Amino acid sequence: MPDEAKQEIRGEAEFEDEVIEPREIPEGKRVLVITAHPDDAEFGCGGTVARWAAEGCEICLCVVTDGSSGSDDPEMTPAKLKATRHEEQLAANKILGITSLVNLDLPDGMIVPDLALRRELVRVIRQFRADVIVCQDPTSWFHGNRYINHPDHRAVAIAAVEAVFPGAGNRNYFPELLDEGLEPIKIHEVYISNSQQPDVWVDISDFIDQKVEALRQHKSQMGDWDPGPMVSKWAAEDGKKRTPPVAYAEDFRYMKIDG
Ligand SMILES: [Zn+2]
Repeated sequence: MPDEAKQEIRGEAEFEDEVIEPREIPEGKRVLVITAHPDDAEFGCGGTVARWAAEGCEICLCVVTDGSSGSDDPEMTPAKLKATRHEEQLAANKILGITSLVNLDLPDGMIVPDLALRRELVRVIRQFRADVIVCQDPTSWFHGNRYINHPDHRAVAIAAVEAVFPGAGNRNYFPELLDEGLEPIKIHEVYISNSQQPDVWVDISDFIDQKVEALRQHKSQMGDWDPGPMVSKWAAEDGKKRTPPVAYAEDFRYMKIDG
């Protein structure tokens, strides 16, 4: 029976009673972080991936766009910015312990969650043989009353969760990937960063310096702004929400997927 049919028969009621303990450290060791832009991972989960890498996880970062729209400087060309941001991301990855980088190089600002993107992400998930996915929040339109979430963040997050289920684990989705030797793989853990409904706060007290230093590598985006004070303040606020509280934390919505 296909997975979808099983879910329909079981319905939502059965899932409501299951208590899932959100995990600060994932069960799986192979972590694929999927983001829209260079620097998204550092803002959303930089401290967490640094901690997980230090604790033995293998971390791959997949950046969907080429970052070529991230400047209002008339002297900066999209091609130059793309190359610059690629170098900045590599420098940041080194600080965080991210050992592989996949750039899909789609045009920055133009992402829609279509089947082509879903297939690309299924391909990356299967190539890396991921156990755990970290992605942005597909449901997040607004952060407070001062920030409209970037449409690329939402679009990439939608495609990412659709790639997790039902794409990556189903043999009949994208059969052309089977021809490439990419066998289906079931993903059991997803961490949604910057979620509207967080349920796990990862203690990053020992990794806040790495998070800030990684962000500083994105010089084309930071300009004269030092991200340290603001980013530390946000992480300290999240640290207070953890039980028990810690100096610095990052929050996620944790999903433990059956199957
Ligand atoms: Zn972004």
